[in-house]
Amino acid sequence: MPNKAGSMKKKELAVYKKTLVARRNEIVRKLSEFRNESKEVETDIAQDVADKAESSYTKEFLLSLSDAERDLLFQMDAALRRIDRGEFGNCQMCQKEISKKRLNALPWTPFCIGCQEKAESETT
Ligand SMILES: [Zn+2]
Repeated sequence: MPNKAGSMKKKELAVYKKTLVARRNEIVRKLSEFRNESKEVETDIAQDVADKAESSYTKEFLLSLSDAERDLLFQMDAALRRIDRGEFGNCQMCQKEISKKRLNALPWTPFCIGCQEKAESETT
């Protein structure tokens, strides 16, 4: 039986999705802590600039994260979108299937091990 995109079982996808959401929540939880800290400053202006505050707080929050956390957050968002589109589990570079072993360790990874190594050797 040929392997193609979308061949992953729904049950497996659900497990990856659960892992991604949980890991993502760990980072996003920092956002609520971050917002609580700035609550005193926030309450006066919150009502007038509610819409703007949302995006500026998000921006501030992203700046408060380390580069690694920010990258991870974006990669997890992208992985969750791939799950919704039924593209999860395929390398974004060569389109081949990413090994289960790799996905289990790094469910947010967009690349297979080969492309990852290639990308790393090119940037260093
Ligand atoms: Zn690849």
